[in-house]
Order: sequence, then structure tokens, then C-alpha cells
Amino acid sequence: MGEFELIRRFFAAASCAQPAEGVARGIGDDCALLDLPPGEQLAVSTDTLVAGVHFPVSCDPFLLGQRALAVSASDLAAMGATPIGFTLALTLPTADADWLQAFARGLDVMARQCRLALIGGDTTRGPLCLTLTVFGRVPRGQALTRDGARPGDLLCVGGDLGDAAGALELVLERMSAPEEVAAPLLARYWSPQPQLTLGQALRGRASAALDISDGLLADCGHIANASAVALKIEAARVPLSPALLALLGESRAVECALGGGDDYLLAFTLPEQHLPALRAEDWPVRVIGRVEAGEGVQLLDAAGRVIDPPARGYQHFGSAGD
Ligand code: ADP
Ligand code: MG
Repeated sequence: MGEFELIRRFFAAASCAQPAEGVARGIGDDCALLDLPPGEQLAVSTDTLVAGVHFPVSCDPFLLGQRALAVSASDLAAMGATPIGFTLALTLPTADADWLQAFARGLDVMARQCRLALIGGDTTRGPLCLTLTVFGRVPRGQALTRDGARPGDLLCVGGDLGDAAGALELVLERMSAPEEVAAPLLARYWSPQPQLTLGQALRGRASAALDISDGLLADCGHIANASAVALKIEAARVPLSPALLALLGESRAVECALGGGDDYLLAFTLPEQHLPALRAEDWPVRVIGRVEAGEGVQLLDAAGRVIDPPARGYQHFGSAGD
């Protein structure tokens, strides 16, 4: 199978590569052409995943395609951007039709879920490696950046944390669990749900935002630095799923939630007056702390005393080299 046959069969023919809103020209020319409505800015983010560094060489290609795109789309969510499309630069050791078919299917499932059109890419031979670049649009000046947090704002997250870090124990076969515990955790690992609609709902409301990829404490540190404020996290308010608690018990579950990576949920700061409307619209907003004057991230116990964060218990292949 030649390069052009491969591109046509697995990528140009995929349903996510068909004509889509905002895409004036997709796969097949020297460049794709995107239409941007007047008054909007283009949001762009690139991620590279290297086999043996970011994922095991032997991992399921369907799950890899699905997860790779979800991770990239999560950056659009974190900026409050509306998805347009993505490019795929794929380096492959061999053109294995079964592998490509499954990979393209996983990619297509997530692409349709996120409303991201496949608009181009590059295909080369070499050690397995993927680079995805995602494109989105956001009304000028309304992107959710990391530098707008102000003392008095609430610190919030978009759902239960630590599930993907807990799932890694299962993925790496360091633990096993009954189906009802394993299934929801593995789903959070292999099929993260980028919080795209939440990100868009936070435009004009959240003062700062990012997606949690390296663990809550580490990522909150980025907001604290960029905004020159302190973030105070109340450990007892960090939301944990029943499945994670069942797998690990409370203290290790909290460790995963604070230090584990790969959640791909949003963390954001919010002037308090916006909370009632977000709650009324039923967005998954969990308040876990506050922004104060100062610097860095502090963890507080129920009495408001500063406590040491638990040691980072788990090293993820998901976070290496990010
Ligand atoms: P060029 O020589 O102009 O770089 P290529 O031969 O690399 O073009 O690719 C031909 C067309 O196929 C281009 O439109 C490119 O964007 C697209 N393409 C190449 N590889 C992929 C891929 N893996 N997924 C999607 N589109 C691809
Ligand atoms: Mg090329």
C-alpha cells in the first residue's frame, strides 16, 4: 500500500474528513483552508505522542486514536474554544492495515464526538509517533487564559479527579478490580471526555482556566504563577468517584486526585457572582478552594490549616516527557 492509498483509505475516507462547517478546503491540497467568522480568533494547539514514551508500543490502536485526539481537544476546551478541525502527522514503522483501520476508527469516534474535522496531515515512515494539531475559534478577547485569576475568586474543577491515575494501576496490570469498579475508571483513562461545552460556557465568566493533565496541584501551580496569586485547595472538597474510592481507599484516592495526571478535566477560577448561573445551567462545577493574594498552591485541612501534599505516589507513562 503506497502513501497516497493509505491516506485515502484510512483518513480522507473517514467520516470526520468529510466537508464540515468552517472548513473551506480539507485533505487533498497543499494547505487546508479554514473560515473564521468576523470577530473571532483562531486557537491552535499541538501535541506529540511517542510510542514507548507516551503510550506502550503494543497498546490497542482504537483506544490510542480515541485518546490522542481527546487529549488534544482538551486544550481547546481549556481555552473556551469552539472546535473546528485537526491535522494528523503520523509516523509509522509499517503500513499495517488492521492497525490503521482500528486507529482511524478510534480517531473518527472522538473526532465526531468533539465536532473536529480531519483537515490534513503528513504520513511518514519511522518509529511510531503521532502529532495532532487542533484548531478552534473563540470570540476575540474571550479565550480562557491562565493569567486572570484574582484574589477572592473561587477555585473550581469540572468533575471527579484521579480516575485516570487510578486506572493506570489497572492498565499497567499492577492491580485488578471487579468489572463495576474497573470499567468506569478505564473509560476515564482511554476515553477522556474533553470539557468543550463547559469551556465555552465559562467564556466571560471564568477568570482563568486550564485542563488538568499533570495533576491538580501541578496544574494549579501554572494558574498561580501566571496570575501572580495563591491558590488554596481544601483537600476534603476535592471530588472523588465511588469507583476510585472502591479501588484505592480514601487516602490513595486523594493522592491520585491531587498528584496523578491524565484527568483532562477543567480547573478554573471564578468570580463568585457567576456560580449561581453555572449551577442553574447544570454545569459540573465543583468548588474546591479560593484564590488569595500571595503565591503558589497550598493544600488546607478541614480546619483551614496548611498541610503537606501527599508524596507523588505514581509515575505515569502518560506524563513522561510532556
Ligand atoms: P504535501 O506533499 O503537499 O505535503 P502530502 O503528500 O504529504 O502533501 O499529503 C497529501 C494530502 O494528504 C495533503 O492534503 C495532506 O494534508 C493530507 N494528508 C497526508 N497525511 C495525512 C494524514 N495522516 N491524515 C490526514 N491527511 C493527511
Ligand atoms: Mg506532506
